[in-house]
Amino acid sequence: MKILILNAGSSSQKSCLYEFNSKLPDRPPHPLWEAQIDWTRQQGIAALHVKTRQGATLNQEIATTSRKEMTMTLLKTLWAGDTQVIPEPAALDVVGHRVVHGGQEYQHSTIVTPAVKAAIARLATLAPAHNPANLEGIEAIEHILGPQIPQVAVFDTAFHSQLPLAAALYPGPYEWFEQGMRRYGFHGISHQYCAERAAQILGRDLRTLRLINCHLGNGCSLAAIREGHSIDTTMGFTPLEGLMMGTRSGSIDPGLLIHLLRQEGYTVDRLDQTLNKGSGLLGISGQSGDLRQIQTAIAAGDARAQLALDLYIHRLRSSIGAMLASLGGLDAMIFTAGVGENSSLVRAAACEAFGFLGWKLDSEKNEQRLIDQDLATPNSSIRILVIHTQEDWAIARECQKLLSQQL
Ligand code: AMP
Repeated sequence: MKILILNAGSSSQKSCLYEFNSKLPDRPPHPLWEAQIDWTRQQGIAALHVKTRQGATLNQEIATTSRKEMTMTLLKTLWAGDTQVIPEPAALDVVGHRVVHGGQEYQHSTIVTPAVKAAIARLATLAPAHNPANLEGIEAIEHILGPQIPQVAVFDTAFHSQLPLAAALYPGPYEWFEQGMRRYGFHGISHQYCAERAAQILGRDLRTLRLINCHLGNGCSLAAIREGHSIDTTMGFTPLEGLMMGTRSGSIDPGLLIHLLRQEGYTVDRLDQTLNKGSGLLGISGQSGDLRQIQTAIAAGDARAQLALDLYIHRLRSSIGAMLASLGGLDAMIFTAGVGENSSLVRAAACEAFGFLGWKLDSEKNEQRLIDQDLATPNSSIRILVIHTQEDWAIARECQKLLSQQL
């Protein structure tokens, strides 16, 4: 079975091709082909990078901001040129898409139909940086491969669809909730994958575990997971709520927003730009939203970089405390994504605050760049795992599951 995955970010487009026999392997196989488009390196330039399992590579820079055009270029490298891995587009069995917002309607992955496309378009008002990109990916596939190839939408909000109402509502007028203005939560594909992988690593049934998954990347969110379901999370109506992130503020006093609009002459667009692109690690340090560069600046004695890190840790610890209270106990903490997987400093700082509860990180293991391992000491009161998140593989599994149900 050949499953193509499209994973669209706000300024990137990642894609990969998995191939396996009818039985789903336990662990993710190496993709046959991987491709990425990155618009962040140079204004107006799309940088395309393709590599195959056999070692062929392609690097191209194309002057375009059109995602549709670049998605077509990216897809063609599957069946043409040095990176060719399939004879023709028809060799694909299914295409899976990460779709950021599924709203209240989509609580599970689903085969893409005209109604699903209309819903993704409608929900673009809630996820303007992502849902339109997801839809363009779906339409690009339709354009090249025709409607006969099944496409599957896997929603980042779905894992949180069973949030208890007390965690899901905002304490504004009840009508907000009736109109869909509620907490949805995001990074669900990653939170679910990590929870399942944690159960596998611990040799436990997921239904018996209480977990906190810390997805710390450019975007950051926590999920409190009980019996395999998300019962609380830090992101809300949009991916802006919660933790301090690379360039996003996370939660701030809503009264400050009123003040900026009313007293400081902010337009709505400027507010959006400031909160999403000019805040977080970047906003406080004035240098970068990338933790590696923050650490370099700290090493050079930069006080604002240090302050940015202190704020990041303070907010992470507070939110872990909140998730802990929702769960009423804990079996394991999980760290994942760029920061969670790579920063021993952040893991140590997060856990240190809970030393009084008996959380003990093995400091040697924590420094060893381990992946899918338990980093806690044997006498720690909880397990502390580092897991490499595999969103694309999680999407591929959903595709396989849905297709096999259809047969
Ligand atoms: P992601 O969104 O999961 O790709 O995570 C990207 C972020 O991970 C980057 O912006 C960095 O802040 C962070 N990151 C990646 N590698 C490291 C590292 N070795 N040490 C600290 N942070 C890292």
